[in-house]
Amino acid sequence: MTNAFFFSGRELTDEEILKPLDLHHFTVRPGLSETPQCQRCGNTTNFSSHPCARCGKICTYCRNCIEMGKISSCTKLYRWNGPEPAHSEKAGRLNWSGTLSAGQHTASENVLRAIQNGSEHTVWAVAGAGKTEVLFKGMAAALSGGKRVCLAAPRADVVRELAPRLSAVFPDTPPPALYGGSPDRHVYSPLIVSTTHQLFRFTEAFDVMIVDEVDAFPYTFDLSLQYAVQKARKKKSALIYLTATPEPSWKEDIKSGKREATLIPARYHRHPLPVPKMSWCGNWKKTIVPDPVQKWVKEKQKALLFYPHIETMEKALSRLKEVDERIESVHAGDPLRKEKVEAMRRGSIPVLLTTTILERGVTFPGVDVAVVGAEDRVFTESALVQIAGRAGRSAACPTGDVVLFHYGKTEAMVRAVEQIKQMNRLGRDRGLLDG
Ligand SMILES: [Zn+2]
Ligand SMILES: [Zn+2]
Repeated sequence: MTNAFFFSGRELTDEEILKPLDLHHFTVRPGLSETPQCQRCGNTTNFSSHPCARCGKICTYCRNCIEMGKISSCTKLYRWNGPEPAHSEKAGRLNWSGTLSAGQHTASENVLRAIQNGSEHTVWAVAGAGKTEVLFKGMAAALSGGKRVCLAAPRADVVRELAPRLSAVFPDTPPPALYGGSPDRHVYSPLIVSTTHQLFRFTEAFDVMIVDEVDAFPYTFDLSLQYAVQKARKKKSALIYLTATPEPSWKEDIKSGKREATLIPARYHRHPLPVPKMSWCGNWKKTIVPDPVQKWVKEKQKALLFYPHIETMEKALSRLKEVDERIESVHAGDPLRKEKVEAMRRGSIPVLLTTTILERGVTFPGVDVAVVGAEDRVFTESALVQIAGRAGRSAACPTGDVVLFHYGKTEAMVRAVEQIKQMNRLGRDRGLLDG
């Protein structure tokens, strides 16, 4: 034998080396079912075929999940069903000394109960309520009990923000962050943070599945992502949903009691949510940076400025660079997206122009927010509530300026303002706000 394998300094026998490959420890399935349905992503409609180099036949393959490697009719999928790696005894050790608000405390207890019972629970928490902290106790209990936990979010920016936070809180179980192109893809851990896309890699892996921003694009519009979440969790597992702006059908189900949920109507720092002001700015598609917008930008040290389209945003950027050359813009396909978001967080960009990609999930302490062209249909009620929710999140800067610059009010704008006011009323009624 030329290759020797060592384990803890001891040379292993052939038998020991081959043991983990024992096929009893694998379930083997075809990559595509007869129908066909892709057994990785659940796609039933998006296929193509080609002369296959592997089997020499004309093979059908899935186009939906091809960026993760081709699944074709001759592909076999192997799933490990042997024993799971043992977790560290300290996996659930919680390094967190913060205190929960009254609203967070109720949610935290309900999440813990759902995790222990393997049931479903939704946390409806306004932006800035501190919904991540609501998970800590339940996650710690699960990890200490040897369970595997996944926190999934539709967007990579959110995953990149959550992973370091959880690493600090669970220092013995720092979670790998899984997103397209992430370096952590092949790390095993009892705790992972992942985009919903990357969940295609898992089958019946998690005892606790937490889906953050469950109302967000692309999750709500892409059935294969919902399939991915269901496939990645064990048959008996807990399912926790987090949302700041549930869809109308979810709201109905919560009100009627069909969906078990905890509502946190107030932020942890006990200040009300900033209520957006509406400001008519004329035909901004012509002026690009209308005077009131220019004035607003000049007054700000740290601000997000939302535009409905990349094209108008890029035109606005070249004008605003004349105000301050450090002003930048970002959009979904921007190759420097990650770097710009980090620079904004560090404070080296005073005003960041953005499309709706930064409407949720990200926190920039002390930021003011404005929307140009708030009447555009990309700014739905929930998008506007989320955007307004970027302001005043930190205890050090609990207030913030939110302006909707528009060329004609829409129903969505009016409802968004009403929703925010309603949450502030609820927060006051329940004694969750000061003053
Ligand atoms: Zn597929
Ligand atoms: Zn083939």
